[in-house]
Amino acid sequence: MPVLGSGISLHTYTAGETGLFVNSYLIETESGVVVVDTNLLNSDIAALKARLTAVGKPLEAVFVTHAHPDHFNGVFELTRDADVPVYATAGVAKAIEEIADAKRAQWGPVYGEQWPAGTAYPTVELADGQTVDLGGLTLTAHEIGPAESHADSYLVATPGGGQPFAFIGDLAFHGTHPYTNDGHSGAWLAALDVITAELGDMSRLYPGHGEPADTRLFADQRRYLLHYRELIRRLADGAPALTDLAKAELERALTAFLPGAPLTWMIQLGADAIAAELRGDADGRDR
Ligand SMILES: [Zn+2]
Repeated sequence: MPVLGSGISLHTYTAGETGLFVNSYLIETESGVVVVDTNLLNSDIAALKARLTAVGKPLEAVFVTHAHPDHFNGVFELTRDADVPVYATAGVAKAIEEIADAKRAQWGPVYGEQWPAGTAYPTVELADGQTVDLGGLTLTAHEIGPAESHADSYLVATPGGGQPFAFIGDLAFHGTHPYTNDGHSGAWLAALDVITAELGDMSRLYPGHGEPADTRLFADQRRYLLHYRELIRRLADGAPALTDLAKAELERALTAFLPGAPLTWMIQLGADAIAAELRGDADGRDR
C-alpha cells in the first residue's frame, strides 16, 4: 500500500477474471476515503464496500473515469446509504446517462444476479481542468472525449507535500487485451498523444486494468492499437465486418503480440466495430 504524500495512502481492490480484473482505487486521506471507479459485478462491489469499511473512515466522494459499467456499476451500492458527491466530467456523465440502460439490457441477462439492481449517476459534473479539494488532496479532472469508451477522462491527484499521480481509467490497459468495441480507435490514438504530452514523465499512473505504470504504458497501448487496426484493415479488406475465420486469425495474431495476456475474448468482440470505423461507417473518428 503506497503512501503518496502527507496523510495520503492508496488501497486497490482488483476484481478477478469474471470482473475483468478491473481496479477500484480507495484514496485514504486524513479525513476520509475517495473512491475512483467502482467495479462491475455485485460480488466485487460487495468486496470493495467491505474494503472501504475496513479502512474505517467515511466515504467522502466517488469519481468515475469513463462511461463503462465496470467503472460505474458500483456507484449505486457505494452511495445508497451515504450522501456523497459522485464526480465525473460533463462528457462522461452525459455518456453514462445515455448508455447505462442499454448496457443493462445487453449484459444484465449475461451476468444475471451479479448485475447491480440499480444505476446511480454522477451528481457533480466537472469541466475540463476543474479541481476538487478533499482531505488535503487536490483532484483535477481532464476531459478527453471518445477514446476507449464514448467518453473518457483522467484524474490527476496532487497531495499536499507529495508528487502528483494519475488515474487514467482505460486510456491504457496494462497487461490485458483492451476493450475496443466502442469503435473509436482513431480518436483513442489521438487521445494517447494528448495524455502522453500532458502527463509527461509522471511516474505513477493507475490504470483501470493492470498494475501501476509510468507513461511508457501509453506507447504500449499505441503499438497494440496500431497493430490491431492494421490487422483488421487487411482481414476485413473493405468489408464492414470480419468473417469468423478472419476473427480467429485476428485472435491468433494478437495473442502472439501480447503472449499470456488475459481477456483474449475482447479481441474478437471489438473486431467488427473497428472494421466499420476504418470504413468510416461508424461515428468514431478515423485518422
Ligand atoms: Zn474497464
